[in-house]
Amino acid sequence: MSSTVRTAIVTGAARGIGAAVAKRLAQDGLQVAVLDLDADACADTVSAIEAAGGKALAVGANVADEESVAAAVEKVATELGEPTVLINNAGITRDNLLFKMTVDEWDSVMAVHLRGAFLMSRATQKYMVDNKFGRIVNLSSTSAQGNRGQVNYSAAKAGIQGFTKTLSIELGKFGVTANAIAPGFIETEMTAATAERVGVPFEDYKKAAAAQIPVARVGKPDDIAHTASFLASEGAGFVSGQVIYVAGGPKD
Ligand code: NAP
Repeated sequence: MSSTVRTAIVTGAARGIGAAVAKRLAQDGLQVAVLDLDADACADTVSAIEAAGGKALAVGANVADEESVAAAVEKVATELGEPTVLINNAGITRDNLLFKMTVDEWDSVMAVHLRGAFLMSRATQKYMVDNKFGRIVNLSSTSAQGNRGQVNYSAAKAGIQGFTKTLSIELGKFGVTANAIAPGFIETEMTAATAERVGVPFEDYKKAAAAQIPVARVGKPDDIAHTASFLASEGAGFVSGQVIYVAGGPKD
């Protein structure tokens, strides 16, 4: 094991899964850039990391915007350290049935998930290649297998899986791995918003989801953080191009 202090960027880390991943990587000894649309919204995650003795930097950026990504990655490299761990977690949902889905709902989901993961990976890969070490972890979803009302999101999350496998093929010889985590139902503001949209109290919604899950509970952000911690670790260098379903069973 190397004693090098690594720097990670976690996108969409103001809350939810991203916040849990950022805190976990900091516990693992990494310096963490907590990136979200609004830098101020990152304050809670940054404070939690600092209170636990870690080092973190709040970074405001839109992962779907090329200039914003370039500026953010540059800021991390100069103010924190060269980023060699990237967790592409930022995400949005714009659910609708196909016949009602607007072009804007389609495009905005593609932009955050796919263009965002592409721009962030492209901007950070040179640091990984220079350091002959890199870990890219992309958030897919069980929705990649199809989910009613999510033709945009499921297409983006399936796209993330192909993107991940190709990154692993291109970057492997530079010591860079790329893997995807495909969560099932995780209790966050994203799933709370879905419950609200379909008009079901969140507690009832979670109970109904848990009834369909083999381990008989819904997931927590820490379940995903645990898997991200493994994939980002020095010892996981021979695991690449994989999609790990973290869903309490073989599927959602
Ligand atoms: P969340 O609670 O909605 O958090 C997502 C975060 O991403 C928010 O802080 C959001 O910022 C940020 N974000 C959105 N667009 C962004 C952009 N363009 N640039 C930078 N940051 C942006 O979601 P979550 O449930 O933690 O989900 C995290 C990831 O896991 C997503 O990729 C999601 O698709 C995936 N996932 C979640 C579940 C689940 O059950 N929750 C299941 C499978 C996969 P704002 O608050 O400013 O919008």
